[in-house]
Amino acid sequence: MWENHEDLFRIQVTEPNVSVKDVIKKIVRSGNVEDAFYICDVSDIVKKYKDWKKAMPRIETYYAVKCNAHRLVLETLVAMGSGFDCASKEEIKKILSLGVPPNKIIYAHPTKKLSHLKYAAEVGIEMMTFDNEMELHKVKHMFPTAKLVLRIKYDDPRSNFPLGGKFGANPDTAAKDLLEKARSLGLEVIGVSFHIGSGNTHLDVYQKAIIASRKVFDMGAELGYQFKLLDIGGGFSGNTGSSINEVGIAVNKFIDQYFPDPSIKIIAEPGQYFVISAFTLVTQIHSKRCLPSQNGSEPIRMYYVDISVFNSIIIGLYDLYVKIAPVEEAKGAPVYPSTVWGATCDGSDRVSPETILLPELAIGDWVAFEEIGAYSLSIASDFNGFELPHVHGIVNRRDWKFLIEAAKRPMSKQKFAAGDYPENYLTGLMKPSKFDTNYF
Ligand code: PLP
Repeated sequence: MWENHEDLFRIQVTEPNVSVKDVIKKIVRSGNVEDAFYICDVSDIVKKYKDWKKAMPRIETYYAVKCNAHRLVLETLVAMGSGFDCASKEEIKKILSLGVPPNKIIYAHPTKKLSHLKYAAEVGIEMMTFDNEMELHKVKHMFPTAKLVLRIKYDDPRSNFPLGGKFGANPDTAAKDLLEKARSLGLEVIGVSFHIGSGNTHLDVYQKAIIASRKVFDMGAELGYQFKLLDIGGGFSGNTGSSINEVGIAVNKFIDQYFPDPSIKIIAEPGQYFVISAFTLVTQIHSKRCLPSQNGSEPIRMYYVDISVFNSIIIGLYDLYVKIAPVEEAKGAPVYPSTVWGATCDGSDRVSPETILLPELAIGDWVAFEEIGAYSLSIASDFNGFELPHVHGIVNRRDWKFLIEAAKRPMSKQKFAAGDYPENYLTGLMKPSKFDTNYF
């Protein structure tokens, strides 16, 4: 699956006044396309990175690769200077292949497969999370010089996807024993991590999680450890309308209060924040039915499109709140109760919420699903023989120049020699292809 995305890699440089919608219209009006495709707006990712740096200058990002591992996303974040959260051997391999040095990667999986741990040791990915005693024994055996980060459980049941049922040591009842065990095994623990749960907009949880982390830092100090890393995990919303500034105001205050020592490195593992709004999925209606009207009510229009809950609108992630709009909007046109169904023969393959209101659409019309970049491509399967949507990258000329310049700089002035970082890799990879010139 991973490799499938590679040959679809392409980017188009646009002028600053050209919007994503303009690009989509141009492509679909060309009449040359039938298959669904994503637009990846690289400028949106660039903006997200800049917004983050403004809102939380002290917090370094380690992008959660699992969220969307498309090369456009990864290349862009490499150029911006981000680090990466990898959870498997393949993810680590992928990030290393982009020239990222091992110390810009955290292996953020508290329960690691043995062969993956062995690989991490071979390639020098030292920083890794743990939350249980067995993991300590594994690390002692396979990678005794690893730099361990204790993942504590501090997620919020109000988040869309809490993770605490699976991961995290209780900071009050389990953390001390684990640190003692690590000490007795002679392992190096360098800090604490938590994840408040994906899709959480309740900022009060940060205060509690940061205070809990401080207590675990103090426990570590009592045992002779000198922790130097706090990892505040992922969970930052990236949808249009959410504000990273507000997160920054909440988080900075508590970090400054409880971790005033500037030598303590603070990192985060945002996933969806960087990618959700950068991707729009565009697909053509290839079939249509109308359910007979019942008791004089308006008949329900059933539209069938070229994507599915197996390759993009993943059930449980997007089906409740996905945003669907016709590409050619007719302002003021009457709307009708409608449902939108996926391409496969599976009966559960409905890609809209139960019933939505859409203008009358016809076979051959195109619809766009907005804000669809997180946990879509990275989970997709080709179930039922339906190909994954292609990705068409765009970037505005101003950001393109910025990225090219950024790619020439070493990732971090302090920590890496310039030679560690391959120059011009971005120009080599992000070339407009023939596909693009057909449309522009
Ligand atoms: N870090 C870890 C350890 C995770 O498990 C996840 C998601 O599952 C993330 C970061 C990214 O979370 P999000 O996409 O909500 O920012």
